[in-house]
Amino acid sequence: MKSKNHTTSLSLWAGVSTEDWYNWKWQYNNRIRTITQLVRVLSETPATLEEWRTVARSYPFSITPFYFSLMNTADEKDPVRLQCFPDQKEDNFLPGSVADPLEEERDMPVPGLVHRYPDRCVAIITNICATYCRHCNRKRMWKRDRMEYNKGYLRRMIDYVSKTLYIREVIVSGGDPLTMGEGALEWFLKSLRSISHIDVLRIGSRIPVVMPMRITRQVCSMLRKYRPLWFNTQFNHPREITPEAARACEMLLEAGIPVSNQSVLLRGVNDNYETMRDLLYGLQRISVRPYYLFQCDTVRGADHFRADIGSGIEIMEKLWRNISGLCIPQYVFDVPGGRGKIPLYPLSLFPVKSLETDEHFFDKRGEVN
Ligand code: SF4
Repeated sequence: MKSKNHTTSLSLWAGVSTEDWYNWKWQYNNRIRTITQLVRVLSETPATLEEWRTVARSYPFSITPFYFSLMNTADEKDPVRLQCFPDQKEDNFLPGSVADPLEEERDMPVPGLVHRYPDRCVAIITNICATYCRHCNRKRMWKRDRMEYNKGYLRRMIDYVSKTLYIREVIVSGGDPLTMGEGALEWFLKSLRSISHIDVLRIGSRIPVVMPMRITRQVCSMLRKYRPLWFNTQFNHPREITPEAARACEMLLEAGIPVSNQSVLLRGVNDNYETMRDLLYGLQRISVRPYYLFQCDTVRGADHFRADIGSGIEIMEKLWRNISGLCIPQYVFDVPGGRGKIPLYPLSLFPVKSLETDEHFFDKRGEVN
């Protein structure tokens, strides 16, 4: 059974067997990566075709058939489509938006390893993702040569970590680490785990959302060996919480790997209280811990996604007023220039006057009155 959420015509994949559809290699090999493929799958030529071509030259795109199946392609405001279709707005930069807003490249003692906070570092082990999120703060890396991310490159990171005794946690990131073959990923995790001062490993991956069939039993048993290992993913909209995504998260949890979520506040996707509430309730239902809600970085090519902080604060106020604390992420702003994250707390900035309850919603559910 395919996800019940899809509303688009899947005619291009009508003949695909269930076995293939649920095979991550099939999903990966059949990603939509060119405008020609995109037009074919849309079965009509969009008016914005030339703009898409131009944008795709600066920022390539890639969409798994699974993620594609979650959207209503005819709706330009569809929250899934907004996150993965090229958009001419990506080429319109605001002053102040830059390719590397967190200045990660500055804080790399060896290529690909960001060491900013003393006790932890981020290892960018690939630049490949199953689906490229248009709001990504590392979109500057999408066009780099894959050959950069070879074993020599990974070995330099391991050497640095092994010589830097005060690092106790490594965040394995990308790109998406789960687009790598299991052998290479395991070699990297095993090498890190063999370093005596490393306590914790963390993986940042959007795979449970965009290609959940990649979370196989084999992957879970491999990851399990390197615990304590934490898994951070990125659901941004309730529609992304599909049965397949829920199953992927469940498998990780069953393997003893805690799963947390880091959403990004995205204009037009989730920048309203109702959507955020439903997303957080959905995450709680699948036992994924809401961890961060990020203010969208000042990354070049994502200006159109950035909601203002005031509206983020308003959403957080209303969440605090209405929903269980277990569902509430920390709203944070990563200060441009790599100066670190600061939490944004509603009650410390605004007086009680703007606290609103969500009685309409709870009335409908019969939970109050
Ligand atoms: S999966 Fe992560 S690294 Fe890849 S495009 Fe999306 S946000 Fe960026």
